[in-house]
Amino acid sequence: ESRDAQAAGAAWELFPALHAAPERVALRFGGTVLTYGGLAAAADAVGRRIAGARRVAVWATPDPATAVAVTAALVAGVAAVPLNPRTGVRELAHIVADSEPELVLAAPGAELPQALAGIERVAVAVDGAADVRAEPPAAGPRPGSERTVATARPDTPAPGTAALVVYTSGTTGPPKGVVLSQRALAATLDDLAEVWGWTERDTVVHALPLFHVHGLVLGVLGPLRRGGAVHHVGRFGPEAVAAALDAGGTMLFGVPTMYHRLADALDDAPSGTALATSLGRARLLVSGSAALPVADHRRLTAATGRRVVERYGMTETLMNTSVRPDDPDAAGSVGVPLPSVAARLVDDAGAELTAYDGETVGEIEVRGPHLFTGYLNRPEATAAAFRDGWFRTGDMAVRDAAGRYRIVGRRATDLIKSGGYKIGAGEIENALLEHPAVAEAAVTGEPDPDLGERIVAWVVPDGTPPAAAELASYVADHLAPHKRPRTVHFLDALPRNDMGKVLKRALGG
Ligand code: ATP
Ligand code: MG
Repeated sequence: ESRDAQAAGAAWELFPALHAAPERVALRFGGTVLTYGGLAAAADAVGRRIAGARRVAVWATPDPATAVAVTAALVAGVAAVPLNPRTGVRELAHIVADSEPELVLAAPGAELPQALAGIERVAVAVDGAADVRAEPPAAGPRPGSERTVATARPDTPAPGTAALVVYTSGTTGPPKGVVLSQRALAATLDDLAEVWGWTERDTVVHALPLFHVHGLVLGVLGPLRRGGAVHHVGRFGPEAVAAALDAGGTMLFGVPTMYHRLADALDDAPSGTALATSLGRARLLVSGSAALPVADHRRLTAATGRRVVERYGMTETLMNTSVRPDDPDAAGSVGVPLPSVAARLVDDAGAELTAYDGETVGEIEVRGPHLFTGYLNRPEATAAAFRDGWFRTGDMAVRDAAGRYRIVGRRATDLIKSGGYKIGAGEIENALLEHPAVAEAAVTGEPDPDLGERIVAWVVPDGTPPAAAELASYVADHLAPHKRPRTVHFLDALPRNDMGKVLKRALGG
């Protein structure tokens, strides 16, 4: 309906439902519940404090203060920079220097690190909308830093206004600040609403961090744009997720490591049976941020009778594709482009593939209203990310006859050139995970004098480690001999970041 309103030239708003139904529940974080009325009042109070600022940092702990702070910034037309509270000292200093926030918004008791000590702090209390206090910087107030509190509600920001600066996950290098406009957020959320049938009747359940697109944009701003609810369960665990679904949650958002843990928990009798019932109550189980192994898709479907819907996106592009919820054959794919997204596969020279045969690998390029405005302070990196108006995702994929994309890995780390072949790490990881003695697997390439690159597997065994030769011949039998790992390393755990993504650079891959 918002698209029609835009087409008709009606006033543009990111949160048209914010003032519509004050009694309706907007946010539930553990035991704290905030209605739309409470959220609007709290956001209004914070908005008056920050009006006129260009950028504010948000100390993004997983609590309602973060949701209120970001909502307030967006309504006031101020760009919010969500900060990961667990970021290391050096990286945080880099992000603060890069984004230059004028204020930092945090829950009242939050302990802020040294990197933020020189910045004026706004305490965001959610219980009393009036209780928005300003605290001078720990280092003493800067002269003239006292802010006047605005009395009128700010004008609705224009669609091109910078809404968020989100730092990428840092999977392949230092995180980059990605500037996202209000229009881009709306475009991606409306695309998902269309494909998932997402309405104000939905309650999204999740346990995701609130400083990346997944947890913040999809998991908080998504429900708010629809006028529905979010139920954040705090720390992830199968019991907490089950309880939230039993309490009326209709959609579950998670990263693959969470679905993997749910799959493990489903195997445990008798609690697994109850968990299956709870998961079965959800209208939609959605996975993203990294590939969900086919083995986990299968285990989850076998136990719950439900299919997990995978969607694919990036900080820079927000959401690009999603599996259609009614597609029965989509496990292992990320589905088809969202309604407002144009996507294609190109070869190394940038020419679109001539064959979409489900086998020829190309790099995914996308265009659409969902794309970022640019990397903060990095015009060269921004320019280099585009070719002929298309954004180069760096992700390699095949596309089948039904138009579904299947990601084989990242161009930089996951495409192994071995013996004249280009081999996607993801395919080998999926095959290894089918082996009963393999709990987790990651595959990298290493320089090799004969092959160019040799395939190296990093395996967390499920019990007694299998013989390396056994895993090599398992892959050779299931895929092809040239795809077998030449070296297998056994580990206790794979190095992962906050989103559960495997840090291949920490594996030397
Ligand atoms: P950095 O850019 O700092 O190295 P990152 O790319 O992991 O980190 P994000 O923007 O959070 O940071 O993640 C986007 C990437 O995540 C995509 O480019 C893609 O490789 C991966 N991804 C997201 N969803 C999926 C999915 N469903 N299947 C496979 N990969 C996915
Ligand atoms: Mg990236």
